[in-house]
Amino acid sequence: MNEGSSLSFEPELARLSSIYGKMKTLVIKVGSAVLTASDGGVSGRALSMIAGEVAKQRSRGVSVVIVSSGAVAAGRKTLSLGRKPLSLALKQAAASVGQNRLMWSWEKALSRHKITAAQVLLSPYDVIERDRFTHLDRTFETLLSLGIVPVVNENDSVATEEIRFGDNDQLSAKVAAMVRAGFLLILSDVSALFTTDPRIDPFARRVAYVPAVTPDIRKMAGISRSGLGTGGMSSKVLAASDGALWGLPVGIVGGMKPKAIERFFLGKEGTLFDAKSVTRSSKKVWIGYFSRPSGSLVLDDGAVKAVKNGKTSLLLPGIVRAVGGFAKGDVVQLMAGDGQEIGKGITRLSAMDIEEKPLPGGVIVVHVNDMALMEYPNDQKEVRSC
Ligand code: GLU
Repeated sequence: MNEGSSLSFEPELARLSSIYGKMKTLVIKVGSAVLTASDGGVSGRALSMIAGEVAKQRSRGVSVVIVSSGAVAAGRKTLSLGRKPLSLALKQAAASVGQNRLMWSWEKALSRHKITAAQVLLSPYDVIERDRFTHLDRTFETLLSLGIVPVVNENDSVATEEIRFGDNDQLSAKVAAMVRAGFLLILSDVSALFTTDPRIDPFARRVAYVPAVTPDIRKMAGISRSGLGTGGMSSKVLAASDGALWGLPVGIVGGMKPKAIERFFLGKEGTLFDAKSVTRSSKKVWIGYFSRPSGSLVLDDGAVKAVKNGKTSLLLPGIVRAVGGFAKGDVVQLMAGDGQEIGKGITRLSAMDIEEKPLPGGVIVVHVNDMALMEYPNDQKEVRSC
């Protein structure tokens, strides 16, 4: 296989143990296929297995956030809707009924270990809008500081095709970014990324370690599919490449058997999609990955170089032009002359100020503290570690 990188069939045990030892917050994503019993309802057995593992992590001081699918599946069962395709309204109704069941099941499973569960239902605008993001961030922080395990799902009863996170693999990567988790572990009905589909190819090999998600890895993920759930393997790999952007290593492991977390970190099963660990402030996570820019600033070469070191604010003379009608306080993209995005930042001047008003040259347009770069220089470590 020519990956142009050190993709490996052997687990990187030292890396796994380093992540395990260092992580302070772990996000576990549990897919519908793992949670759903053969009769279509929520599987008490699966939940109790996972709750036991969550308790183990909690007892060694690791905060845990669960991203749980299964609301629609549980609602289908309760409303006897079978497996037929549902209208959006029926799907939303099923999710409303099922979410309740799902939460009740989590609460029961976790309370056996004296763990309190909290429900958090999210819609995209909860993370896009700065105020809502800030409140959400504080809610997560408070829940975790109280030793509570948040159980997160998309707010399916209001989600439409256009306005939704996509699937819970994507949602879990976003939640992990928000809580600045040290690791995201996806519990799935497939145990790892394989070179080909293991159900039809006896020579399919488990890829144990992926240093970076390359186009070849994406291709492989398209071949090695998950049978159930909305996402499939390609969506898990997408979540992993999203995660890598914000310094989050991501793992996939089979969630149907006991001790999934243990099996994964001992390297016995699963795939580790590695990422260079970077820790960022909540504000920079929001600017970099959740905000919607209202325009862009094109920088000259000198400014690009200066800004890329991660220690310098963007000054007015470094701007070649402002694009779009943005206002002071909006998020803008920072672009190089060749059209490459360098990062994003909150502008202190409107587009009109920049284009029309004569201003002193030394004026700061985007302060370094209000700037999130695409590639973080190694020395740009920030507050609140993973
Ligand atoms: N939010 C959906 C549910 O709870 C699941 C979406 C997904 O699995 O990606 O049924």
